[in-house]
Amino acid sequence: MLDKSLALNVPNDLAAFWMPFTANRAFKKAPRLLAGAKDMHYITTDGRKILDGAAGMWCCNAGHGRAEIAAAIARQAEALDFAPPFQFGIPQAFELASRIAELAPEGLDHVFFCNSGSEAADTALKLALAYHQLNGQGNRIRLIGRERAYHGVGFGGTSVGGIVSNRKMFGALLTGVDHLQSTYNRDKQAFSKGEPQWGAELADELERLVNLHGAQTIAAVIVEPMAGSTGVLPAPKGYLKRLREITQKHGILLIFDEVITGFGRLGYAFAAERYGVLPDMITFAKGVTNGAAPMGGVLVRDTIHDAFMTGPANAVELFHGYTYSAHPLACAAGLATLDIYRDEKLFERARGLEPKFADAMMSLRDEPNVVDIRTVGITAGIELAPNENGPGDRGFAALRSAFHDYDLMMRVAGDTLALTPPLIVSDDQVGEIVEKTAKVIRAVA
Ligand code: PMP
Repeated sequence: MLDKSLALNVPNDLAAFWMPFTANRAFKKAPRLLAGAKDMHYITTDGRKILDGAAGMWCCNAGHGRAEIAAAIARQAEALDFAPPFQFGIPQAFELASRIAELAPEGLDHVFFCNSGSEAADTALKLALAYHQLNGQGNRIRLIGRERAYHGVGFGGTSVGGIVSNRKMFGALLTGVDHLQSTYNRDKQAFSKGEPQWGAELADELERLVNLHGAQTIAAVIVEPMAGSTGVLPAPKGYLKRLREITQKHGILLIFDEVITGFGRLGYAFAAERYGVLPDMITFAKGVTNGAAPMGGVLVRDTIHDAFMTGPANAVELFHGYTYSAHPLACAAGLATLDIYRDEKLFERARGLEPKFADAMMSLRDEPNVVDIRTVGITAGIELAPNENGPGDRGFAALRSAFHDYDLMMRVAGDTLALTPPLIVSDDQVGEIVEKTAKVIRAVA
């Protein structure tokens, strides 16, 4: 039920709030205003029920309106609303960190908390630079990302990210940054499920950069095990393992950005487990609180953590952190969220559902303009050919049509429709998502 005390009308002023990525311009023409959410559905301000095919924005893995999380946040707000996160602490922060570390691959035992995926990426990159300096290898200052990567919008994440439109207005960004090429190649992998069977050899490009710059100048490589925001691009089979071998050989740190893949999206707590590759750091956000409170963090390997925890105090302090690191409300939300993931076995559920989900999504392959479908975990990218207005126009038309005409929430990346429902999605609801998506694809043909 909607709480009538909430403001439910269309606001008079749709410009005061500058929406992220300047979404206002299109939004004003047909506002999509949300007022409530429960389980698999959003409810609009005019009372329509929208099937959530996007877990909000890859966040709400346990579905919406979870009473346990809401109650935990409310209890925490009454008991202790805010506490300074350094020099002082709250028990919940330590408990949540160890619960997350328990879920992570062995050896990643420490968590640095922040408030978003962007902050997590910047924190991980700064940790890499600081660690090398402490280690007497202060020349290791180069950072390597990938084309078609998204690591948030901080200066670090933007620099190692590989989306031209996110970069081009912001000057030189960080210097000393290189990019590996994207692994996506439609000709070689179209309509493949899970990890593409080709492309592991693209990791060898890192050797080329090592030869070009000298290993002793490179601090870290950051990759998403599955690039979500740029169109659902799973790393090829063997690619991450090969990156690990090369980074290890040359003393370069390997960072997995698991802001999307963390907390069950690929059927495991972290994709690192699915792929059997142990990185030096893992960034996370989104699913850690089921989207109910802003929180991000970096899981850090013992050797890196220990380098800061030994030696003369002032010499090795990490001068980095946020007022809202481990915010009490976010910690409360996080602990309640992890309880739900565990009690409802949602990661295992996602793993079990993956084959059916993939088959269901692949059934869309004969719809008009579908040029590729990529699936992994509870995630599908359905790529449409661009229309005559140029790249992204058909994709955005699909998002609008899905919401306004078919009561379905999806995400789009260019002309790729991303379907990434909460992990509680039922078989029937998977069918419903496919049915609605088929109608949308025909509507924008
Ligand atoms: N990294 C990845 C892989 C992401 O997908 C995102 C957001 N979609 C971010 C970082 C940035 O997270 P945030 O928007 O919370 O800053």
